[in-house]
Amino acid sequence: ETVVNRIAAGEVIQRPANAVKEMIENCLDAGSTCITVSLKSGGLKLLQISDNGHGIRKEDMEIVCERFTTSKLKEFDDLKSIATFGFRGEALASISHVAHLTITTRTKDSKCAYKASYLDSKLKGAVRPTAGNIGTQITVEDLFYNVPTRRKAFKSASEEHQKIADVMTRFVYALHNSGKSFTLRKMDQDVSAGVSVRTQLGSTHVTNIGTLFGSNVGKEVIQVDHFDPQLHLKINGYVTNANCSIKRFLFLLFINNRLVECTVLKKALDSLYQTYLPKGGHPFVYLSLEMPANNLDVNVHPTKHEVHFLHEGTVVESVEKQVEAALLSCDS
Ligand code: ADP
Ligand code: MG
Repeated sequence: ETVVNRIAAGEVIQRPANAVKEMIENCLDAGSTCITVSLKSGGLKLLQISDNGHGIRKEDMEIVCERFTTSKLKEFDDLKSIATFGFRGEALASISHVAHLTITTRTKDSKCAYKASYLDSKLKGAVRPTAGNIGTQITVEDLFYNVPTRRKAFKSASEEHQKIADVMTRFVYALHNSGKSFTLRKMDQDVSAGVSVRTQLGSTHVTNIGTLFGSNVGKEVIQVDHFDPQLHLKINGYVTNANCSIKRFLFLLFINNRLVECTVLKKALDSLYQTYLPKGGHPFVYLSLEMPANNLDVNVHPTKHEVHFLHEGTVVESVEKQVEAALLSCDS
């Protein structure tokens, strides 16, 4: 049974960056405004995430790592929405099958923090009182220690570190959560005090896009802000106009505040821009879509983050129309 669990867990958590994404989303779900990730060997040796969110109650500590245990059920009326929003109660369970997991957490009603370790989704030992601030700190050690083939597949710790940096600081989470603070710390021995990269962005997206992606991009982004009543689809974001072309298509897509991939939409927007941009040029597109869960197709692999829409053609067309309007709204 453990082997089966381990294989399933390896599907959910394929590399340190997956674990970080899942855990950052948990921090954000808990209302955190300040998130710090510390890494040793690109997260393979140590991966620690601290937040200032609402914490986990002591009585829930026993079960947080059990599969399909989620505290987020009550916010949604049906299972389908839960799956769609990525609340499957699988992340911590999976991590506990392929790493040593320790949680220290404190809620605002608690006089002290509590600490517990987990193995194969079960509490290991007791939940012990300890000192700590309000919020949660999750420590993942020796990722894939029991899956040697997977472990060996990681050739370069710095590549893993970079993947995490991309997902967290340079890119998407910091931008989408403008105003919140994200810090990435490299804790390897060669850097005795640790090296921190902090991304505390301002409150305006335009400035932040300039900071993260270059001032040329920042200067030429146009806001998209539209509601499609037929599809109950909110389309928000920033896209470059026909004055700005970059080397590589940067497409950042959030659906219902989850970072996802959507190849169909990506292709449609790429070819839309090809009509207007000089040959070899690409756009910057950051979109945040909000829609009822029942317009999303949940029958896709939950961890690949590839999303399909019901009525896909209509949704893509609606988004395309808004982006085209923005793309054409430059003066030259
Ligand atoms: P899910 O997010 O789908 O509920 P997870 O396995 O990611 O499942 O997390 C399990 C549960 O652990 C969550 O429902 C939440 O109650 C708790 N949890 C995990 N991380 C945090 C955190 N950073 N702050 C507060 N609670 C957390
Ligand atoms: Mg989660």
